[in-house]
Amino acid sequence: MSENLPSMDSAPQKAHVAFLGLGHMGGPMAINLVQAGYRVVGFDVVPAALETARAHGIPTVDSAAEAIAGADVVLTMLPSGKHLLDAYRGVGGQPGLLSVAGPDTLFLDCSTINVDEAREASALALGAGHRAMDAPVSGGVVGAEAGTLTFMVGAPPEDFESVKPLLEVMGKRIVHCGDHGAGQAAKVCNNMILGVSMIAVSEAFVLGEKLGLTHQALFDVASAASGQCWALTTNCPVPGPVPTSPANRDYQPGFAGALMAKDLKLALNALESTGVAARLGPLASEIYDTFAAEGGADRDFSGIITDIRDKSGR
Ligand code: NAD
Repeated sequence: MSENLPSMDSAPQKAHVAFLGLGHMGGPMAINLVQAGYRVVGFDVVPAALETARAHGIPTVDSAAEAIAGADVVLTMLPSGKHLLDAYRGVGGQPGLLSVAGPDTLFLDCSTINVDEAREASALALGAGHRAMDAPVSGGVVGAEAGTLTFMVGAPPEDFESVKPLLEVMGKRIVHCGDHGAGQAAKVCNNMILGVSMIAVSEAFVLGEKLGLTHQALFDVASAASGQCWALTTNCPVPGPVPTSPANRDYQPGFAGALMAKDLKLALNALESTGVAARLGPLASEIYDTFAAEGGADRDFSGIITDIRDKSGR
């Protein structure tokens, strides 16, 4: 389809994109495509999401099949791999997207899902005569609205090049990570680093408190020394040293605890399926599961520091 795909970067004809999943992330991403002149047809299984999308200028239809009729690209932004695989295959007597789409359609999934599910989804799409790509994102709702997401892409090089201009409308960093599944692999590895490092930074701040160190003193040393990392220098879990971090607004996300718990579960699945002898990743998964279950689901994940402090006694 590379040859058939309408130019994704310039007039006169831009790709026709079926956008499925118009939630917190998908909604603003679709708006950016509409504003850049792409022909977007949106669909979501929740009527309220469809209504919000319409109110923001996204053309919508009442079924996935209608959305993908004549589409060059089927872009999905769904909650999980099960949602994606069910949609691709079809459930409850509904035909799957893969059987409804025209030949050689590009199935571009931007959801965050298991690496194995991404590979399965790609294999199904290729088997049905289409092209496929996993392109999960980081940057959250703020990045989706601003068009500054990072895309981590798993696809053959020629497909990556053909879709890059479209991704550049929604993101500012587009990284080709390798073949099918490599985008999800990069995402899961990065978020495992993030989950573990936020716990380490939070434990260090609570230890500093116990030892009589001010937050600022620890920040001034660690942010310029070997302890520096994004969890400290951008998303600092204590108020003060980084005025824009969620700690300064009572841990409003940011990146919600429920999403960190979800992503660490994906990391755990990948660790188990590959047999990696990791200890901190699984522990971080357990810690964030508890955090999310005990009121942290809708708070920024850096709020984990309050749990550590609360459980530290005295
Ligand atoms: P969301 O729940 O707000 O949106 C998902 C949407 O998909 C919902 O509106 C739901 O109704 C819709 N949906 C489910 N099944 C569908 C189907 N078969 N067809 C059409 N629509 C369907 O979730 P979100 O926050 O937008 O996240 C979407 C994905 O992006 C998730 O995989 C998430 O892990 C990932 N992600 C989220 C963030 C974030 O900050 N929210 C950041 C990075 C990645």
